[in-house]
Amino acid sequence: MADVLDLTTLDRSLAQQVTPGRWEEMLSCIQCGTCSASCPAAHAMDVSPRRMWRMVNLGLVDEIMHSKTMWLCSLCYQCQVRCPRGIPLTETITRLKEMAMERGLVRSRASAAFYRSFAYVMRHYGRMREMEFMMRFILSSNPLGALGYIKLGPILFLRGKVKLELPTFGKGRLDRLFERVAELEGRK
Ligand code: SF4
Ligand code: SF4
Repeated sequence: MADVLDLTTLDRSLAQQVTPGRWEEMLSCIQCGTCSASCPAAHAMDVSPRRMWRMVNLGLVDEIMHSKTMWLCSLCYQCQVRCPRGIPLTETITRLKEMAMERGLVRSRASAAFYRSFAYVMRHYGRMREMEFMMRFILSSNPLGALGYIKLGPILFLRGKVKLELPTFGKGRLDRLFERVAELEGRK
């Protein structure tokens, strides 16, 4: 006789961890697929959002951590606002990203470097500076990879795609805003 999945013995700790205080809502997913159908990045994901939430409910943490789905999520909130169960899906995927970063997984290191470089430039200048952002990202994620851009840099510059702007130091223009967000998120 085939094994039957016993739902009462499943490990719910992952759902509790990624949706603190609301994890029982996560279990109310009816697998309707509205989240996958609404997701602008679903075509490129290896695990669809609908399947991802099911995996969270089943406690398949290793499979989730090695999927590229969370790194393709642009946090657009489409899945969350359209979910008929009102499940906080976008916050869940953010928490999954944090878990992957805490574990230092290879894929998460490049993504973490991307986010940190982007946030640094926005906080410091109040706007994007493409050249500095790219240099910070490449040097913090794959310093040797910078060699591959030696030819590309001058071409982008000559075509007006990036501006040469010297870095500045001191207080950031958006320091107060970033500090306030950190306070609201309980990180300060
Ligand atoms: S939209 Fe909500 S209920 Fe439907 S599959 Fe996605 S998470 Fe589950
Ligand atoms: S928040 Fe992420 S998972 Fe949800 S629809 Fe947008 S890109 Fe897809």
